[in-house]
Amino acid sequence: MTFLITCPNCGPREALEFSFGGETTRRASPSATDRELAAALYFRRNVNGWQTEWWVHQSGCRAWFLAERHTTTNEIRRTYRPQDRPRDEEQEAAPA
Ligand SMILES: [Zn+2]
Repeated sequence: MTFLITCPNCGPREALEFSFGGETTRRASPSATDRELAAALYFRRNVNGWQTEWWVHQSGCRAWFLAERHTTTNEIRRTYRPQDRPRDEEQEAAPA
């Protein structure tokens, strides 16, 4: 199954041109406990609904960007460059 993803640089393209980079995560604070650090590194929300994710246009401009995708329908309501993300999401870590 394929769907369209709008690259912020290239416009709408088949999803086959992109690679998934995972859902965005929050960095653990410098004073985090071992448990908090492990949770930040290894646990994901895995939501059924809208989630913000990292994608890379692997077969195109090779740029990393963020996409808001519905995990059930694969509908993408918004894509944007990391520097254009809302301020409340700035603490989220980049993909490994
Ligand atoms: Zn692109």
